[in-house]
Amino acid sequence: MQRFTTVVALLFTGAASAYAQAPVSYRVSIPEPQHHWMRVEAVFPDLPDGPARVLMSRSSPGRYAIHEFVKNVYDVQIDDGDGRTLAAQRPDASEWEVTGHGGVVRVRYKVFGDATDGTYLGVDTSHAHINIPAALMWARGLETRPARITFEPPPGRDWKVATQLHPTGDPNTFTAPNLAYLIDSPAEISNFVWRNFTLGEPFRIALHHDGSDRDADRFAVDVERIVKEERAVFADLPSYENGYTFIVDLLPYAAFDGMEHRNSTIVTVPGALRVPDQRMAALTTVAHEFFHCWNVERIRPKALEPFRLDAPNMTGELWFAEGFTSYFEPLIMARTGLFGAMDFASAVGAALDTVINSPARRYRSAEDMSRMAPVVDGADWSDRTNWDNTYISYYTWGAAIGLGLDLSLRARSDNAVTLDDFMRAVWRRHGQPGAAAEGVVAEPYSMQDLKDRLAEVSGDRKFADDFFDRYVQGRQVADYGPLLARAGFILRKRNPGRAWIGALSLRSVRGTTVIVEPTLEGTPIHTSGADRDDEVLSVDGEAIGSPERFEEIVRRRKPGDTLRAVVRRRGFSEQLTIAVEEDPGLELLPVDYGTLSVQQRAFRDAWLKSKVNP
Ligand SMILES: [Zn+2]
Repeated sequence: MQRFTTVVALLFTGAASAYAQAPVSYRVSIPEPQHHWMRVEAVFPDLPDGPARVLMSRSSPGRYAIHEFVKNVYDVQIDDGDGRTLAAQRPDASEWEVTGHGGVVRVRYKVFGDATDGTYLGVDTSHAHINIPAALMWARGLETRPARITFEPPPGRDWKVATQLHPTGDPNTFTAPNLAYLIDSPAEISNFVWRNFTLGEPFRIALHHDGSDRDADRFAVDVERIVKEERAVFADLPSYENGYTFIVDLLPYAAFDGMEHRNSTIVTVPGALRVPDQRMAALTTVAHEFFHCWNVERIRPKALEPFRLDAPNMTGELWFAEGFTSYFEPLIMARTGLFGAMDFASAVGAALDTVINSPARRYRSAEDMSRMAPVVDGADWSDRTNWDNTYISYYTWGAAIGLGLDLSLRARSDNAVTLDDFMRAVWRRHGQPGAAAEGVVAEPYSMQDLKDRLAEVSGDRKFADDFFDRYVQGRQVADYGPLLARAGFILRKRNPGRAWIGALSLRSVRGTTVIVEPTLEGTPIHTSGADRDDEVLSVDGEAIGSPERFEEIVRRRKPGDTLRAVVRRRGFSEQLTIAVEEDPGLELLPVDYGTLSVQQRAFRDAWLKSKVNP
């Protein structure tokens, strides 16, 4: 990986100075949007002698699992650009090896897509919503070539294009300086509305929705507030190569998703802007994705630089790249005033409850969880997994680590040193130094780099090493209660004294009550021996005719009681003994601002108040 980085860097330098090679060109047309496909014509000119290898990506920047985008490609025709068919072998499912060409290979194909999200392709009569790896083939060896792409809207439709690609004199034609930039540049082609603002850099919002102009205006005002608060964390904006573009699809048929890119983001939310929850979901996603224009797009783990398009991408640092970004999401929403103390507390409390109570910490650290991205990130398996017991999302655990680190830094320095300072230190060292080529990061970081920055910012090497040993590479959780109490938040049991046997998903199946999700290690129901697919026949001698009946029996008990259950599995009945405990579920509540002590008020203000308009 390290060696490969060096080679790529050299190639970029060489390409800029010595050789002016013809760009790869693409033409994308949408003759029948109602059938969800596009026609793509790709021309690879000035090819060196020998076989040309043309392929569809297998993964997409920001998505770490394999998605095999070739699955929706069909009607592939390969010729020399003048109509003479060229012979092609298939070395693997995603790749075509073309021989006998005279220096030019043209590939024409159809690609199907019916998903409005951040990963795939969506073509319909309302738009073409294009994630480039799901749409365009590329050629090995031509990674440093510039590209030129023309989008042709469907006949009779007056659609425009939103993208971070570089504009040309033709409103439908764009350029990219290299493959890394091209593949990272999604496009929305539709009747969206533009909203713009300027903060030194130009910001554009392409909003594809069916709401009013007033909805769009209000949304743009809130996006600008988020951008300003996030800029205050890092002290300055990155130098965007082409301004920054938010592509936001708020439509009944959109999936709930967000995907970061270097100078743009995709935000898709099912619903409409006028619905307060859906509008807030879009803004929260904006808060997350825009934070990525620093953290992950420019502050980048070494293992993701360069991003591999033909393989899964594994890194042990997603607890930071995604998790810290997730921590800043409710924090920024609180600082803008879009979240009140209660909204903030419920977002943070949910993450703490998950991380503190999950059995998966028995098996893996946050670093280990990050390394699972290639098998969990949007991957869809047809066999069963035991993830309920063995996996915590690096988003959730990383957010909890971010909270623990922020509050620890604040507590030990009386708010003089914060996680904002840490992020800024990482930015200055690893993100801000530009690179020779767009889409390339010059100073990606390692785990040790993060530890070193923490040692610098805290002024305490031992604190930094200890924090990583325990909470990032170890499996402990910080003592959140006292840390949160300083800001006047109470972390407490949600249902004190209530009888509990563990999370249990029950469903009525043909008149019987069946456990339909795995039981969790360490919970009474799991310890009793019960697990997924078991039919619950009776509890304490009472027949269980419905899931509600079982829940009722548990609710009547006290911690310390014992239940006797009979289950049937694989054709045989078994007797189980369930030792009832107290519900360990946690909730986080804000103490009313008016009743905070002077110190608590100062702590909460320093943490949650706007850094733009203090
Ligand atoms: Zn993210």
